[in-house]
Parts: sequence; C-alpha cells; structure tokens
Amino acid sequence: REALLQPGDGYGRDEDRMLRPQSMADMVGQREVAKRLQIVVDAAMKRDEPLGHILFDGPPGLGKTTFATCIPKDLGVNFQLTSGPAIQAPKDLVPYLTNADERSVLFIDEIHRIPKAVEEYLYTAMEDFRIDIVLGEGTNARTINLQIKPFTLIGATTRSGMLSAPLRDRFLLREHLDFYTDDELAEIVGRNAKKLGVTIDEDAALEISKRSRSTPRVANNRLRWVRDFATSRADGHVTLELAREAMEMQAIDEMGLDKQDRGYLSTIVRVFGGGPAGIEAIAHTMNAAPDTLADEVEPFLLRTELVVRTPRGRVVTPKAMDHLKAIKWK
Ligand code: ATP
Repeated sequence: REALLQPGDGYGRDEDRMLRPQSMADMVGQREVAKRLQIVVDAAMKRDEPLGHILFDGPPGLGKTTFATCIPKDLGVNFQLTSGPAIQAPKDLVPYLTNADERSVLFIDEIHRIPKAVEEYLYTAMEDFRIDIVLGEGTNARTINLQIKPFTLIGATTRSGMLSAPLRDRFLLREHLDFYTDDELAEIVGRNAKKLGVTIDEDAALEISKRSRSTPRVANNRLRWVRDFATSRADGHVTLELAREAMEMQAIDEMGLDKQDRGYLSTIVRVFGGGPAGIEAIAHTMNAAPDTLADEVEPFLLRTELVVRTPRGRVVTPKAMDHLKAIKWK
C-alpha cells in the first residue's frame, strides 16, 4: 500500500525551495545584516581565505537558513547542512568535518541543541581546524589528532542565550535577525506570487503581509493558501476582497494572529486571570509544548505588546484584551 502523503509533502517542499532566495542580493530586508555580511564575503573572496564563522539568531522563519544557504552560493563554495538534534556526540560531527572542502560552509541549524561535549569538540575544530579522532576499539583504541581543511561554520539558533560563552566567542560575526516591515513582506509576497504563477493586486499583497506576523515564512504560507483559495473560488487572480475572504476562512485576524496565538492569549485571560502565568502552566493548559510557545508564538506577541514577560510570568496587556474583545473568533 502506498504511504499516505502528508499535506505539504513533496510539492510543498519543492515550492519552499522555489521561493527561497538564491543569493543575498535576492533577499528583501535585513539590509544592515546583509551589508555587514557582504563586507566579510567580499574580503574573504579577495584574500582567497575562508570566511570567518557566523552565528545567526532570532525567531523562526526570518531568514537564518536563507542567509546560510545564500552565503556559500555567493562565495561559490560547497555547503553541508545538519542540525543540533542530529549531532548528539562528537562522532556524529566527524564526517561533516572531515568531508568539508577548503573554504566550504557547514551549517548547523538549532545549534543550541548540541550537547556540551560536542560544543567543546567544536572549539578546536573552529579555531585551529584540528580534531581528535579515536581509531580502533577497547584496549586497542588510540586517539589521533587530525588536521582538517579550513572551513566556515554557520550556526543558527532561536536561543542564543543557551550557547556557552566560549562557543559564542568563536563566531566572528553574530547577527540578530529581526521582524520585517509590512512593506518588505509585501515585496516578498509580490515576487513570490510571480514565482507561483498568480497575479495579485498590490493592496492584496499588502493585506497578506499585514496578516503575516512580520515573518517571511508566514507570508509565504499565507500566500500559498490565498492562491489555492483564488484558484478554487475565483479565476485565480488575487484581489483585496479575495485575500480578506481567504484569511477569514482560516480565522486569521487583522493583526495576523491565528487560532494558536489567540488560544495562548485567551488561556492566560480565562484560566490565569490575565496573568502572571508561567510558560509551563500555560503550555500544559493548552496541551502544547512550552518550547513551541516560547519560540513560535511568544516572540511576535511580545513585540506587538500583547503580552509582557515579568519575573513572575507572562501577563496579557490591555491592548490584547481589547483585541480579543474586538474580534469575532474566540
Ligand atoms: P528556521 O530557523 O525555523 O529554519 P529561518 O529563520 O531559518 O527559520 P528561513 O527558512 O530562512 O527561516 O525562511 C523561511 C522562508 O522565508 C524562506 O524559505 C524564504 O522563502 C523566506 N525568506 C526568509 N527571509 C527572506 C528574505 N530576506 N527575503 C525573501 N524571502 C525570505
């Protein structure tokens, strides 16, 4: 029997790839970060040297992986990708380090999730391009110190505070990615509509952007939904009215909050009297993972001042109360 396809499998992944910028010049927004990166990339190329190690931090979906994939393309070097949860011991890292070509880029997503022993192993790899490897087993085992090719490590994390100071200090550049403006997102939506083969009115692109939590990944997902909606309900052209209707159908409100965002706010209001409430308690009540709330839901709500963090827990603001009262969905 054929395996069941999950929604978004296959065709979704291809579209993800299609929408991802291929070079830093194709990226929208994050101008200051891009300018600094351009300087180090140019200098590395002119000097014919490996680029220094780079760390990106910031909430999910703002372009950490996009930068990490564009940089090696701009440099014209090879690229390897792994992630913190996949590297549980130094031996998991060894193949990547020994396979790394000179000046190539090794990208470790969610780098805060590598264990301490791996962090320590990375120090000498990053600094001296040397690693210890164990050959043989048991009493015959011996350790040799191996020179590896000078490479560039790019790390991405949503929690830079969880990295140890010695690891953080070994990155030449540490860049924080911030949320995008509505106009920047509208530009991304406009460009990506073309890539997806749909025509869209300017005001409709702006409407999708305003409801995308200042995050390109969210904007792309909303755009794909609106495109399907336009194909199914109309002639495929996206007008403002159609974009609004599509958003309504997914219960995405004017601020771009979806059911989960509102569920988080209304749980604090309903169960904890508006707060303060601890993240664990909120997560348990909502039957959600505390990490998901902290990484994916809270950053935008904090930024838009719908919730504040106090030493005693999260507190919902009057602005959030007004918002919850004003919208029709609960
Ligand atoms: P995560 O850590 O969750 O993987 P991320 O910060 O690495 O998130 P990306 O995967 O780089 O986020 O970005 C998500 C999508 O948003 C990309 O596939 C790309 O299409 C789009 N995107 C991100 N940043 C930009 C940008 N600056 N310009 C245009 N599109 C962007």
